Formats: sequence, structure tokens, C-alpha cells
Amino acid sequence: SIDVDWLDAWDVEDGSAQARALFTEVFDAAPDGVWSAPGRGNLIGEHTDYNGGLVLPFALPHRTYAAITRRADRTVRLVSAQEAGTVVTVDLDTVAPGTVTGWVAYVVGVAWALEQAGATLGGFDVAITSCVPYGAGLSSSAALEGSVAIGLDALFDLGHGADDAGRQHLVAACIRAENEIAGAPTGGMDQAAALRSQEGHALLLDCRSLEVRQIPFDLASDGLALLVVDTRAPHALVDGQYAARRDTCEAAAAVLGVETLREVTDLDAALATLTAPGALDASGQDPEMTARRVKHVVTEIARVGEVVSLLDSGRTSEVGAVLSAAHASLRDDYEVSCHELDVAVDAAVQAGALGGRMIGGGFGGSAIALVRVEDAEQVAGEIAAAFESEGLRAPGFLVAVAGGPAA
Ligand code: ADP
Ligand code: MG
Repeated sequence: SIDVDWLDAWDVEDGSAQARALFTEVFDAAPDGVWSAPGRGNLIGEHTDYNGGLVLPFALPHRTYAAITRRADRTVRLVSAQEAGTVVTVDLDTVAPGTVTGWVAYVVGVAWALEQAGATLGGFDVAITSCVPYGAGLSSSAALEGSVAIGLDALFDLGHGADDAGRQHLVAACIRAENEIAGAPTGGMDQAAALRSQEGHALLLDCRSLEVRQIPFDLASDGLALLVVDTRAPHALVDGQYAARRDTCEAAAAVLGVETLREVTDLDAALATLTAPGALDASGQDPEMTARRVKHVVTEIARVGEVVSLLDSGRTSEVGAVLSAAHASLRDDYEVSCHELDVAVDAAVQAGALGGRMIGGGFGGSAIALVRVEDAEQVAGEIAAAFESEGLRAPGFLVAVAGGPAA
């Protein structure tokens, strides 16, 4: 039978020790402290965050670790075990949109954004290491931002990390870092998951009000598990796609006279308005395509509510069918899936999973499948076999248990 590549999470103690060791080796002193933040999965609610909708992510046990020491000047020295271990030096006063490129932008961008919001920081030395799968749609970027944000908050006595309201402030800084300094568009779900999650819970986030509700999420007590599949699909041609989806949603909202698609209460009426002759002419969007995009967003927001009620009422196994419906919507109406993601979901369901879907932006990245605990290994094996017979790169697997937030 085929080898299954399990991507194990590090213990927090082990991850901290690794970051500390890297720091000491590179900077020749012990760090002031080590902080960490999780990657995330998303149970349901895809491409809803930038539409003011609902999402239901959860923290992974996989975390990014940042060992940090304060400096007396405005210099930042950075090293990451995942980026060749080469030291990069940046003057904090030169950081602005467009001045920093590469992975370093995610780190100094957080310091920049905190200062933009009124904090006074100084320079720092930082050593990073991580077991969050890289660029796999499991949000290694927000894990990196979150570990740095919570560390700087503690080192420079900003006091935001102590409660959820303060953490919202850190989330906002991480979003600005990613959007404005790293130059990557993101809707805000990833940073909230990294900083506002609670262990054993999924995070119901209302992206319009930014309110959260902690939803108990302990699948094992129902004999179930959530299998995460990193497809390792090469991200090709994705750059313009995310922006194009956002543009279509904005154009549709403008025609419907609402601020975001969250406001759409009558889907059929909205679709009729959008496909009426001439309605979208000024925007240049295709009416039939726009209608499918809007249908995905509106039905997906409803599916988040459905999954929350199923979890609330202990009907956990029924979540599987909702995941599969979401996948069909993302594949056919929102058109953000790809061959690898479809193979992963189809093979999972054929192997006995209760349901599954792609997660994240799409065109690669990861998928999830809801399985009975005793079936997890076999479902993973059959997905791996399906990839092999399709001639695809071997995927990676993990079983997601909801972990804790940045700390
Ligand atoms: P995802 O967030 O899904 O993993 P992204 O493309 O949003 O994928 O973020 C990946 C990028 O984040 C990497 O290319 C790198 O620039 C940065 N990054 C994430 N984790 C680390 C790390 N441990 N060390 C250095 N850079 C990192
Ligand atoms: Mg990311």
C-alpha cells in the first residue's frame, strides 16, 4: 500500500526550543522571549469574508514560533529557518508600502502597522521557525504575523494581547501588514483565526461587525475527525483570480444597491436584477457569471449558519453534506477549484468520508474531509493513491484538532 505523508505538529515546547536555538546561534545571545501563533483551517465560509459575511475557521495545532529581543535602536534583524537562515537587516524608519519585499515584509509590516496605529516601538532581533505547511492555504502568513504581533505587544508593553478587544487591534495591524506592506490582498479571516481562536473551538466570525462567537468544536467526542489534505498543487495563474472575484462581487453589490453581498436577503430577486438587460453593462461584468458568483456567496453565508446549528445541536455528522455542497458551489459557481482539489474531495468521499471541500482561496492549497475517526488513515491512503494514479505530486495530510491562539 501507498505511503501517507503525515505533517505532524510540533509540541509548543519543542517549537519554542527550536526558535530559541536558532536565535542564539544567529544572534549570539538568548532571546527575551518566544511567542507563537497558529495556522488555520476553515470549516465553512469561503470567499465570504470580503463580502461582509460569516466564516468558521479554527486554529491548527501547527504554529509559527518567533524568538524576539528588543533593541535600543530602530534596526530590525530577521532570520527564518524556512528562508535559508540568512539574516536580513531593515531600518524600521524606511518601512512603507513598496519598500520591502519577500517574507521580511510580513514581519516588519506588523511593526509598521502597530506604529501607524499609534504605538511607539523600537528595533528588534527576531528568529522564526514553523511547522505550518508553507503556502498551503493553511495561513502560514497570518501565523507569522500573529507570532510577531503578540511578541511585540508583550515586549513593548502595548497591552493588546490580554483580551479579545485588544486582540482585534492586533488583527487589524496584521491585516494592514499583509495588504499594504507584503502587498497580498486578504479578507481578514486568517489573522482573526490566528489571534482570536480558542482551543477546542471553531471561531464564528462576522466579517461585517467583527464580532466572534466561540463554537465548541470537538469532533473526537462524536467519533469524527477532520482530515486536512495539502494538495501541494503548484499555484499557477492565481494572481488575478482573487482580485477578479472581489471585483465581480463589488460590481454586483453596486448594482444591487447594497454595501456588501451580506445584505442580500432575497437571492432570486437579486439574480433577476443582475441578469436584467443592461444591468451590469457599466461594470463590464458578464451577467450569467456574476449571477453564479453571487449565488455562491449568498448560499455559502447560509451554509455557515447551517453548520453552526448542526454543531450546536450535536448533529455533527450532518456537517459532511454541507461541506460537499460548498465544494460544488466553489467548483461550479465560484470557479476557484482545480484538478488536485477535486481529486482530493472526490477520492475522500469515495473512500467513505462524510463530505469534503476545498478550503482557502482556491486554485491549489488544501482540502478538508469529515471522516469517522477509524476511517482517517484509510481515507488518507485512498486520496494518496488517487493522486498517484493521476500522476500528481504526493499530498500531505494532517488531522485537525482545534488549537489555541497566538500566545
Ligand atoms: P499561506 O498563508 O496559505 O501559507 P501565503 O502565500 O499567504 O500562503 O503566505 C506564505 C508566505 O508567508 C511565504 O511565502 C513567506 O513569504 C511568508 N512566511 C510564512 N511563514 C514563514 C516563515 N516561517 N518564515 C518566513 N516567511 C514565512
Ligand atoms: Mg496567507
